[in-house]
Amino acid sequence: MKKRILCVEDEAAIRSMIRFSLEREGYVVEEAADARSARDLAATQLPDLLLVDWMLPDLSGPELIRRFRRDPLTADTPIIMLTAKTEEEDMIHGLDAGADDYLSKPVSLKALSARIKALLRRSEGFGEQRIINAGRLQLNQDAHQLRIDGTPVHLGTTEYRLLEFFMQHQDKVYSRAQLLDFVWGQSTYIEERTVDVHVLRLRKTLKAHAAENVIQTIRGAGYLFSATETTGD
Ligand code: CA
Repeated sequence: MKKRILCVEDEAAIRSMIRFSLEREGYVVEEAADARSARDLAATQLPDLLLVDWMLPDLSGPELIRRFRRDPLTADTPIIMLTAKTEEEDMIHGLDAGADDYLSKPVSLKALSARIKALLRRSEGFGEQRIINAGRLQLNQDAHQLRIDGTPVHLGTTEYRLLEFFMQHQDKVYSRAQLLDFVWGQSTYIEERTVDVHVLRLRKTLKAHAAENVIQTIRGAGYLFSATETTGD
């Protein structure tokens, strides 16, 4: 089965370049020039992955992503945001809206392809039912569901994978480079600070449940997950 990718971008030249490139890799690509047609197309046939431009004629990219996330049909669909903005604040803004990843323009087709593969692989690989408990946190790897004190907590795809890795490898320090290899995959072209951005986002979610201390920053070394922090005083 060919994977369907919906490309939401108002610049026709970029859109067709992306479509041409991805079709050669065996994807079915649909194009939308604005947010309205993107939502219509997604409702007609659910895409496996969404590419969303930062600024569209009728809506901002992050706002469109927020709407896709609120819609139960597309709540878990992998989304890559295309942006001309490279400031960290802007990236965080996009990731907070619910994007799983971002790519700066001009888009490198090689990087785009690698990230699409990584995200699709991640959204597929649900194995047999397994549950990891760590202090107040419980991760159901079958349902891709985090619970804190029994309360379901929504996580983006990348934050989920990051937390899953941490919970599978507790009380051990991992460098940013190691986390990139293990969580993002060696085939991706991502800067190490991307790890920080996603850790920040994960901590923000955990903080809403006063559980952010499970992820500790080890100066000069990387990050460590330890559940003992959540039950401490
Ligand atoms: Ca645009």
